[in-house]
Amino acid sequence: MCGIFGVYNSQNLSRDLYLGIYALQHRGQEGVGLAFYQGKSLKVIKREGLILEALKEEDLKGIRGKVGIAHVRYSTSGEKAGENLQPIVRRVRGKEVALAHNGNLKNYLPLKEKLKGEGYTFNHSSDSEVFLVLMERGKGEIPFKVLEEDEELLSSLLYALREVRGAYNLLMLYEGKLVALRDPLGFRPLCVGLKGKSLYFSSESVSLTLLGAEYLREVKPGEIVVVDERGIRSYHFNTPDGEKKCAFEFVYFARPDSYVFGRSVYEVRKEIGKILAQEDDVEGDLVVPVPDSGLVPALGYAQEKKLPLELGLIRNHYAGRSFIEPTQRRRDLKVLMKLSPNEWVLKGKRIILIDDSIVRGTTSKRIVQLLKGVGVKEIHLRVASPPVISPCYYGIDTPTYEELIANKRDLEGIREYLGVDSLKYVSLEGFKRAIGYRGDFCLACWTNQHPL
Ligand code: SF4
Repeated sequence: MCGIFGVYNSQNLSRDLYLGIYALQHRGQEGVGLAFYQGKSLKVIKREGLILEALKEEDLKGIRGKVGIAHVRYSTSGEKAGENLQPIVRRVRGKEVALAHNGNLKNYLPLKEKLKGEGYTFNHSSDSEVFLVLMERGKGEIPFKVLEEDEELLSSLLYALREVRGAYNLLMLYEGKLVALRDPLGFRPLCVGLKGKSLYFSSESVSLTLLGAEYLREVKPGEIVVVDERGIRSYHFNTPDGEKKCAFEFVYFARPDSYVFGRSVYEVRKEIGKILAQEDDVEGDLVVPVPDSGLVPALGYAQEKKLPLELGLIRNHYAGRSFIEPTQRRRDLKVLMKLSPNEWVLKGKRIILIDDSIVRGTTSKRIVQLLKGVGVKEIHLRVASPPVISPCYYGIDTPTYEELIANKRDLEGIREYLGVDSLKYVSLEGFKRAIGYRGDFCLACWTNQHPL
């Protein structure tokens, strides 16, 4: 998954980088990295773990300057968090370049093999370093007019971008410049904000809110933004046939107080819940959300049905997110540590339980067991996204086809496995309506039709 943040002309770089990336902690919890210019040299700080504990006061005191980027990592390719924390720094044509990447390259293994065969060495096992090695390897034609000062950067960058396939939002530090770009299909969100003369880029607008900056717009799919002391330039390296924004951002990844792809995540989640209610005729006493990402669709559902919404599951906020924990054992333990059933609310009640998605089914099964343990009378599970039938190749570490429960069992089989009284997913049509689908979203999780 990963979150990226960058600032140009910061008035307080340690504060901006810290708060900007802290607001994106939900997008990656394995580690955090910062890169910034101190004078003309590039400095990097990388730490494993959650930002609050990982970055020490001494780290922050050492951050001076006006330009920097930051990254929170969740591993989608490559193995250990430590060695693959970003930003990655590498010499490209004699210049030190820092890069932070959100997404996943589909063709990085063959590319990497080819480059290794040519004698290039790699210091990281993740896909992201391929960009910098490609920039070192070649120069491409620039098919549009550019400022002379951007020629060298753009010719090597365009060369690299022509070779890679997949999802990539990038932030780079290159010779004092801050560079932001989004792949032609625009899988992942990247927004721009402004406060005074400081310009910000972030995976989600929550960073801007925390910094008191104004949300300006999204970086467009196929756009490269270059910022330096000469000003801001926007180049379009690819005019996409059609965008393929990740619809799962609305279901789970993004924070509800964010705007992603120009829309309020809260508004979309609530709409999904409302449509789920309109498609449903089950009777119950209470609507109970699975926190956190089930909360907003549950509100939409409860308001549409005119049923009370009660907090039947209480979240321990110190436990992190379960879906993005890399192993099943850690995910199981996380559920127990994270959610506690609220007996006073639940005992003897027929509940309509709202969750954002069912992926493997193991987390939902554990939650159902927790609820039964406190004497719930009936559990009707309602899911605010259609059945997940496909893994993701664009930067989300969803499981393999075999691990996805909707590929192993039919609706009745899943209901039986989870041990609920009834089970219903929002329809794909209803879901598309809620997200405002006009052919411009990736829905491959639910349709198995992959855009690349
Ligand atoms: S496959 Fe799913 S998670 Fe991946 S980009 Fe498409 S909608 Fe998003």
